[in-house]
Amino acid sequence: MSTLWLEHTRSTDIETVGGKGASLGELTNAGLPVPPGFVVTADTYRTFLETADIESTLFDEILQFDPDDSEAVAEAASDARQLIRETPVPETVQQDIIEAYRELGSRAAESTTEPFVAVRSSATAEDLPDASFAGQHETFLNVTEADLIERVSECWASLFAERAVHYRANNGFDHETVDIAVVVQQMVDAEKSGVMFTRHPSTGDRQMIIESAWGLGEAVVSGAVSPDHYVINPETATVVESTIADKKQQMVKDPETGETTLEAVEEDKRTARVISDSEIENLVDLGGIVEDHYGEPQDVEWAIVDGEVFMLQSRPITTISEADAEATGPGATVDGGVSGGGQSNPSDADTAAEDGDVLVRGVSASPGTGSGEVRIVRKLDHLDQVTEGDIIVSKMTMPDMVPAMKRAAAIITDEGGMTSHASIVSREMGVPAVVGTRDATDVLTDGQLVTVDGEKGIVRAGGPTDDEEPAIQPDPVESVRPQTPVKPMTATEVKVNLSIPEAAERAAATGADGVGLLRIEHMVISLGKTPEQYIDDHGEEAYIEKLVDGIRTVAEEFYPRPVRARTLDAPTDEFRELDGGANEPHEHNPMLGYRGIRRSLDKPEPFRCELAAFKRLFDVGYDNVELMLPLVNDAEDVEQARAHMESVGIDPDKARWGVMIETPASALLIEEIAEAGIDFVSFGTNDLTQYTLAVDRNNEYVTDRFDELHPGVLSLIESTIETCRELGVDTSICGQAASKPAMVEFLVEQGVSSISANIDAVRDVQHEVKRIEQKLLLDSVR
Ligand code: PEP
Ligand code: MG
Repeated sequence: MSTLWLEHTRSTDIETVGGKGASLGELTNAGLPVPPGFVVTADTYRTFLETADIESTLFDEILQFDPDDSEAVAEAASDARQLIRETPVPETVQQDIIEAYRELGSRAAESTTEPFVAVRSSATAEDLPDASFAGQHETFLNVTEADLIERVSECWASLFAERAVHYRANNGFDHETVDIAVVVQQMVDAEKSGVMFTRHPSTGDRQMIIESAWGLGEAVVSGAVSPDHYVINPETATVVESTIADKKQQMVKDPETGETTLEAVEEDKRTARVISDSEIENLVDLGGIVEDHYGEPQDVEWAIVDGEVFMLQSRPITTISEADAEATGPGATVDGGVSGGGQSNPSDADTAAEDGDVLVRGVSASPGTGSGEVRIVRKLDHLDQVTEGDIIVSKMTMPDMVPAMKRAAAIITDEGGMTSHASIVSREMGVPAVVGTRDATDVLTDGQLVTVDGEKGIVRAGGPTDDEEPAIQPDPVESVRPQTPVKPMTATEVKVNLSIPEAAERAAATGADGVGLLRIEHMVISLGKTPEQYIDDHGEEAYIEKLVDGIRTVAEEFYPRPVRARTLDAPTDEFRELDGGANEPHEHNPMLGYRGIRRSLDKPEPFRCELAAFKRLFDVGYDNVELMLPLVNDAEDVEQARAHMESVGIDPDKARWGVMIETPASALLIEEIAEAGIDFVSFGTNDLTQYTLAVDRNNEYVTDRFDELHPGVLSLIESTIETCRELGVDTSICGQAASKPAMVEFLVEQGVSSISANIDAVRDVQHEVKRIEQKLLLDSVR
């Protein structure tokens, strides 16, 4: 028999049904309501290889290559996948799979139509370093009988994804010994769905957290929709605290095609509570069973169809450390109440060391003060240990630091300057930060109570002094709202920069005229994998959807104000810690290296996915989205990018698109660049300054030489604006310097079309622009 029903599999059957199959089987056997399904076993994959007689071609010919030759690895992997996809699946195996599928259909409720199923790889490989990779090669949703066999064979082929082949070759594993199973499971057409944490995910407190929204669960898991949030007392199954969100959209499945789409939620359901008390009771019961079954707190995905609760997945909550679970010190959450805005007020401030003890000094990267215990973070997984109100101290900003930054009272780094990633993100989140201290990770000790003054760029021993620390820090959204009821009207548009979609509300509250720069790097980095790795593991479609979700969140918040999203520009060192980061090149100076449009043109696969995400947003009516290309040098770069845009179906004459001016070459060659058909340019003064002055923006030893107002930089900006005005191309600035009054004055005088500043600077820039415009008007009539 080629297949095994989930109810006949257990967690110990990994070798036969793979990790995913084993875990779903275990849940089914624990009596939990898991949608029915079966597994095409690993033996079946073996039978396929043997019956089709392709073993020797696959293992003795195709997969014999020089492991140090990356082109040869890629070619072998691609040939192996092609061989598997093109070899017919034996008749008997096909019959078994189709028979099981039909049986699944007859089990599936009263439905008369054939069921939609999810087809997922479930690898048995123990040779790969992380289970998530091993289990995830390829997944297809909404599959029906017509393409079922083809999808199964595609899952088999994904065993030879390039990275997997590469990994095995480099670590001495034999391709011949790894197997793959495939899970085929009925898809549930959820009316409501969400996630449940059987314990508080950051503090480990005995509280259940449930999040729920209308429609299919992808919307909640991907963050496309803000869900209702309930804190539950598991003993009594009662709601301790609830926040009912305005749920504007829901993910639904088209009954004909099976495709999932986002649609507007009916007016009366938008602010209605999604789950009833009895459904909460049901979920709490199930949560208890799963936690008992596994013996540790679980993070569960669930769905409700016709009042019936289904469990789609369960995995341990990895964010709770032992320490968190028992935390009682300052910053620990009590009764679910957390101090607002990522700020803290240590209760033992009285015992603080003497004021005035400056421990370290650095660049004042993000204003505000914060006190708390030092948490030295040397590795990505140490971020879990950052609890509410801690001070993060690290060498440099790390990928995926954002969730921990939200909990932190302040951030201190050894490296970096005003324009490095840590600074940009902390400003955006309104968390005080001092960067470029050189030695904070050596000087400060774990658990030490300190106060960070982001304004002065100093870190003092002890807690806050009475006269300087307000008891409650200002709300991060309110603090940026224009103070006057009417925001200053200016001819020069004042926009805002954004890197994390979660800060969209805060950015929109500034009253900015749009987003002048939406960096997508954080959306990508927060996936935990390099783009190449993510695509390898989950497929292009999943990557595109992640980008669509992130950009849409901002486009939606600002609509109809324009949102200028930029294609990927992350230096390779920011990818290093991610899954797949080991494949990133080691560069002497990543700032001068493989980033921005250079990487995109060199490795077009991820780039084309980014472009496809834009296309999708244009197609569904987000006509406020604009596309911007980073780090171009000349017309050749821009024309090549334009060709890629066209190849994914974007019409460059209809879409609004443009380039960053970040290298002296691009400023000097603006005339020929403009001929490629761009609508706008935007000065990235962080890079333009570093490249014009040869001052590495991340190097704390030359921070004092980093001067965006240097005559060399201003001269390039001036000539570019002049040419662009003649050619009818809009000009803007989105570097950090846009927040400096002297730069604002210079640009408005030159006739720049818009200025895009950090969230916390928008308000001042609006006033500054207005003042200069009035002065210019007066000067002209005097
Ligand atoms: C810049 O270089 O000024 C810019 C805005 O881009 P980034 O900071 O992302 O390099
Ligand atoms: Mg830049």
